[in-house]
Amino acid sequence: MSVTVVGSLNEDVLVAVDRLPGRGETVIGRSAATAPGGKGANQAAAAGELGPGVHMVGRVGEDPAGDRQLAALAGSRVNVSRVLRTRGVPTGTATIPVEQGSGENLIVVVPGANGALVPADADVESVRRATVLLLQLEVPMTTVTAAAAAARGTVVLTPAPPQPLPAELLERVDVLVPNEHELAQLAGAGPGERSPAELVDLARSVASCAVVVTLGARGALVVPSDGEPLLQTPPPVTPVDTTGAGDCFCGALAQALAADPDLPSAVRFAVTAAALSTTGPGARGALPDAGAVAALLP
Ligand code: ADP
Repeated sequence: MSVTVVGSLNEDVLVAVDRLPGRGETVIGRSAATAPGGKGANQAAAAGELGPGVHMVGRVGEDPAGDRQLAALAGSRVNVSRVLRTRGVPTGTATIPVEQGSGENLIVVVPGANGALVPADADVESVRRATVLLLQLEVPMTTVTAAAAAARGTVVLTPAPPQPLPAELLERVDVLVPNEHELAQLAGAGPGERSPAELVDLARSVASCAVVVTLGARGALVVPSDGEPLLQTPPPVTPVDTTGAGDCFCGALAQALAADPDLPSAVRFAVTAAALSTTGPGARGALPDAGAVAALLP
């Protein structure tokens, strides 16, 4: 039983500012700090904290930021033997000024080594043999598609950042996990809050596989490829920081599906794990272990 993630590793550079700068403006920040990030690595870390058998496939540079990303993932019990060091290209970064008080932010991603992850990197045993393969869209689409094609297990895709999905990729996806905003973008619909019935229609318009739409504090909507949709609400928590909640959700969903393919019960587990992840700072500051999730499940 194993979970393999093919995706991005970034160093997040978090800058605290009193006010976000406007175009052409300079503002003085209060502090700067780095944290391990990248959607792929965040999902792998969440899965690793919840159980064994998690593998990461990706690329970092031959730089200290790359060392830090590998150490952070290994610290979350993720096997990093397939994270390759790339000469002459820096580790990916995400620079994030965060406005104090409002929590509003801006994000500038420089893919760096993530952009050098080629299809051949994904044609490896840990992808082929994975019980669950977890994918996002922060590495080249050709590589994401090649990974899905090589997989023999269940393929879970977070379509983020949202972009058109090639038919060849979509055909191989078993579970698509967008948030509301990503689902609307994929469907070519406008922004705005929608009823569960409207979300079910949108989900069925973008994919014929199972779709799980994450809805922030409202939980997640399971839209099976056939059968009745189901809304799974989170347990009551006091959120401190919801950064990365969606990534924790996907890591937890993959761990649960690797143990038992029943989608509604995997979503119940993921909703609970993601709710717990919001009770501490940053994307990886409060990733729960399996015991903490089990304690909140009925
Ligand atoms: P993203 O982080 O991709 O924007 P969401 O905001 O939909 O995704 O959050 C993903 C999941 O995290 C939700 O489905 C839910 O389980 C959990 N979650 C997020 N925000 C909260 C919250 N305020 N309270 C409880 N759970 C939350």
